[in-house]
Amino acid sequence: MVIHEPVNLAMPLAKVLGETIRRNRRLPDGNDLREVLKGFGLEEICLDRGIAVFRGRTVVAMAFPRDEPLVVDVISSSGELSDALEVVAYLDRKLNAFIVEIVPANDIEYEGNIGLEPVIIDAESFELKSSPVLGHFEEEEGSPFLVIDRETYEHWKENGNTDICPICGGELAWKGERAYCLDCGYGVKVVKK
Ligand SMILES: [Zn+2]
Repeated sequence: MVIHEPVNLAMPLAKVLGETIRRNRRLPDGNDLREVLKGFGLEEICLDRGIAVFRGRTVVAMAFPRDEPLVVDVISSSGELSDALEVVAYLDRKLNAFIVEIVPANDIEYEGNIGLEPVIIDAESFELKSSPVLGHFEEEEGSPFLVIDRETYEHWKENGNTDICPICGGELAWKGERAYCLDCGYGVKVVKK
């Protein structure tokens, strides 16, 4: 997994938080979040009442774990805010569903929803009710790729438009199991697992 900028952390984080909700049947707490962020190679540098700060080589994550909503702000470690993102997890009582979404701090940068759709999990059955396109990032020959699993891809193909880039909302050009986005420069790769 490579992390160069906030989106490289926000997308895998949203994916894992969704999986955590489905597994534990509740919102992730501070400990769950710590496990996830440390698993991504971030170092916890500060924990004070109601706030935890995690540092990676290129990003800083600030977590505000309270009962609800769970908020993680991801900014570039340069302090630049234009690509900052917020990952939010909460229970929507009207929908009776858990939601995990990625909200850009700067709306102008992004045309579409990051991941195309938020994670929506039914609060009774804990089934996934949406088709988010989330994964982690890897690098090949200097080019960063969003790696998505087969299940995510099948959901996307059935319920959405696979010509739209899940990172920036731009147009994707597919070549077999890989796609390239001319707008943001990221690739998308589907893996079997
Ligand atoms: Zn794109």
